[in-house]
Amino acid sequence: MDWNSKIREILDFPQPGIRFKDITPLLADGSAYRQAIDELASFAREVGAQLVVGPEARGFVVGAPLAYALGVGFVPVRKRGKLPHRTVSVEYALEYGTDVLEIHEDAVRPGQRVVVADDLLATGGTMAATVALVRKLGGFVVGAAFFIELGALGGRDRLAGLPIRTLIRYD
Ligand code: 5GP
Repeated sequence: MDWNSKIREILDFPQPGIRFKDITPLLADGSAYRQAIDELASFAREVGAQLVVGPEARGFVVGAPLAYALGVGFVPVRKRGKLPHRTVSVEYALEYGTDVLEIHEDAVRPGQRVVVADDLLATGGTMAATVALVRKLGGFVVGAAFFIELGALGGRDRLAGLPIRTLIRYD
């Protein structure tokens, strides 16, 4: 699959100077979307995933169908204040300031093998925070799956030691 043809670059979104990778053309193409999920699912099977965890919002678009393909559960990670039950949280650094991600405190069983999923790996801050939440609950993160990797931003280093699968990498 020519994944690049399914990803649209939007200049100056959401801020001047940013070249945003828009995955909506990939999502709109049923066979491309299915193939993308199937490729990540074969990786998740290789690492023995028993649960998929994904951060809002595009992590749901990758993580939920991935969980369905594997026949395992999906757990949402959300911004502060969005989850209804009791949560654990982590603070993580943004370019300016910090933000908080949360997960339900009973969402992962100790020792459960978890694959974390999102659409895009940039600096790795979002996924490092997601991994930290899973580990707080005693989960065993066995891999990280993404559609896209922006290689120059060093996200892989933030996830050091984790098996990572991405469909396409931009340098
Ligand atoms: P990181 O935390 O790795 O720096 O940024 C990755 C997070 O920001 C992901 O949740 C992703 O959805 C979002 N993100 C950052 N840049 C882009 C982009 O160019 N395209 C898309 N689709 N998401 C992005």
